[in-house]
Amino acid sequence: KANKLFHPEPSIINVDGQKIGGNKLAIIAGPCSVETEEQILSVAKDVKKSGAGFLRGGAFKPRTSPYAFQGLKYEGLELLKKAKEKTGLPIVTEIMSPYDIEVFERDVDVIQVGARNMQNFDLLRELGKTKSTILLKRGLSATIEEWLMSAEYVMAGGNENVILCERGIRTFEKYTRNTLDLSAVLAIKKLSHLPVIVDPSHAAGKNWMVDSLSKAAIAVGADGLMIEVHNDPINALCDGAQSIKPDEFEKLMSELKLMANII
Ligand code: PEP
Ligand code: MN
Repeated sequence: KANKLFHPEPSIINVDGQKIGGNKLAIIAGPCSVETEEQILSVAKDVKKSGAGFLRGGAFKPRTSPYAFQGLKYEGLELLKKAKEKTGLPIVTEIMSPYDIEVFERDVDVIQVGARNMQNFDLLRELGKTKSTILLKRGLSATIEEWLMSAEYVMAGGNENVILCERGIRTFEKYTRNTLDLSAVLAIKKLSHLPVIVDPSHAAGKNWMVDSLSKAAIAVGADGLMIEVHNDPINALCDGAQSIKPDEFEKLMSELKLMANII
């Protein structure tokens, strides 16, 4: 059902009154992780002011080391809700376990499935039973076909509200954190009707690449961007090196507004 053959027109997904897909660009911005109330409220206000349509922030973090900061979990969700109350920005945040689906259905506008869980088929199947919008990130080493098959797991359960997110894949290259596969956006557009957005932050792993990669993503027809923004990147508990500051985000947004019709 992710296949274009069954649905030749691009899918437009409604989130809290905003439409993702079609000819508008959705901008999702915010820190890698929710850290404190002050941090998330301040970043939320800043990205809203610059024109972002959605707030991101991880509460449950899939960290490589079990000793690294794992996220504020339910407390993080509460802080995201507070940020939504203050700014009106819908919330995008990652789910790790099927046990949390009820809470996420209630509190979260877009449920992110991270790269590491792209093939967690039980999680995907359970999310397929909900009506929530699912942001499905491409797996670390997933082919385009595998990625689409994962979307299929959600859709097979009856939930067609799936947005894909290219976030870079593992290659032999070490200079960047991952290799941003912009041709995947073109391939998805050819094969599927689902919206596809690009996350230049996790792809590059370097804050100074985010600006140009964002513009390149628009050039290949991405339906949106997910960008990590932090008020104090050097002291960020996660992914500081790839996070841009609010003033840098403001500048990027002013340039993106000249290139695309932003939601
Ligand atoms: C994230 O969005 O913070 C994240 C962990 O991304 P990914 O799953 O793409 O690594
Ligand atoms: Mn991150």
